Amino acid sequence: MDSSRSPSVRPAHTHGVLLLAVCVALALLLAGCRATKPAADPYADIRQAWRPGFELSAAQLAAMPSYSITVTIDPAQRAYTGTLELTLPISTTQPLTDLYFRTYPNLYAFGGELQINGASVNGANVNFTSAASRTAVQLVLPKPLVHGDTARVWLSFLGKVERESKAGEYTIFGINEDIFSLTNFYPILAARRGTGWALDVPYVHGDVGFHDAALYRVQVTMPPGLIVAATGSELSRTVDPAGWVTAHYVIGPAREFNLLMSATFQVLETETLGTRVRSYFKAEDGAAGQSALYDAIAALQIYSDRFGAYPYREMAIVQAPLTYHGMEFPGISLIGSQVYNKFTKDLETLVVHEVAHQWWYNQVGSDQVLSPWLDEGLAEFSMYYYYAGRYGEAVAKRLRASRWETPLASVVQRGEDQPIGLPVWDYEGNYETLVYGKGALLFATLQDELGAAAVERLLRTYVQQYQWQIATPTDFQALANRIAGRNLDAIYTEWIYGSPTQGQ
Ligand SMILES: [Zn+2]
Repeated sequence: MDSSRSPSVRPAHTHGVLLLAVCVALALLLAGCRATKPAADPYADIRQAWRPGFELSAAQLAAMPSYSITVTIDPAQRAYTGTLELTLPISTTQPLTDLYFRTYPNLYAFGGELQINGASVNGANVNFTSAASRTAVQLVLPKPLVHGDTARVWLSFLGKVERESKAGEYTIFGINEDIFSLTNFYPILAARRGTGWALDVPYVHGDVGFHDAALYRVQVTMPPGLIVAATGSELSRTVDPAGWVTAHYVIGPAREFNLLMSATFQVLETETLGTRVRSYFKAEDGAAGQSALYDAIAALQIYSDRFGAYPYREMAIVQAPLTYHGMEFPGISLIGSQVYNKFTKDLETLVVHEVAHQWWYNQVGSDQVLSPWLDEGLAEFSMYYYYAGRYGEAVAKRLRASRWETPLASVVQRGEDQPIGLPVWDYEGNYETLVYGKGALLFATLQDELGAAAVERLLRTYVQQYQWQIATPTDFQALANRIAGRNLDAIYTEWIYGSPTQGQ
């Protein structure tokens, strides 16, 4: 074998040259392949917030507003500072001469402060002025934005929690019960209503406003020792030498991003249908924290089955300083502390109502100011499916009678009945009985009229057709007519508008 080595030197050398040439050609080919391959997925991080099986195309994602927020939070100083970049594809038919961002912490009910320190659009500094009783900021554009443009908005902001909340006081924003609640803490792009901006000053009841579904990448820096309940998925976490933590969260599509933090939260979690469900609660309320988890899981399963899948990898139920009220946010439901330790019989109904908003408000958006019945009535009516699915039809029927029909009958008896289709400010003390209860009864009436299967098909189709959009009452009514195969205007008139002339 050794003797054959010498003569083989030359051929081997020739082979080496050939091999080198082949390698170079291959390398060039591969480089060429790389050049023609699509670029790396720009939404790879966002996709990590999705439940396995949930899908949206890159084109759908590219059409949405996309936020990138960096914020440093110092609960000891009751303050936070941050910057926000929003990539906004312009899809309005008319040119935009200004942009509005909501600054809800300035609202009296929030008791805080959100100041804008600087703003630019596509690299040019822009003037900004406060509007809508300081619950909005107007950015005046140097030149109008037109359909097909992309605006790159940069804002720097400073937030403060000014008012000291008292124990037992409703605190949607601020510090109470050892919980730092930062809901709607950053400047949120205002929604469009028709050809203008929706800039209502939030009313005493009802939700603060409504927003377009968007993508969120949020970097939060905070002191050590805090348990955080955030919208979306935490992708990474680093700790600096002083112990301060920087965490990255992603979510989307979602209508807002929210953070609640406390050094004393306890957490229980379990997984169902590809979603990790977490319950955050105070140590002394552990039994209720556990019940909230189980109720949320059952609701998630039943609603996914009836209305279509829940989109995210995460879902949280969080004990919050909201007395006995609840509040929905994307992927996160805040449940008032008092139903964990005082009005515990209301815990289940509150949890499953709020979880239903993951479909009616987050997936299918609606104008919660002008038409609050559309999301509240549906969130409330969803409970019928929950109780029927978990405890049987008879229990669901009792819920309908005790929670919706009896209170409405007494409102009617007092001569205080109103149609459900009015804006939030047209209601007084009977807001929940009318918008929630009577709202739910409209859907129950459709069920009586069209049959359970048709109404279920209607709700599933409503999600498929209007997912991540803002649906109007007219959209819903037209779809219901189509599914029913007949005109239901007499029902809409009776329940929603009160008289044939009082439409929309
Ligand atoms: Zn609600």
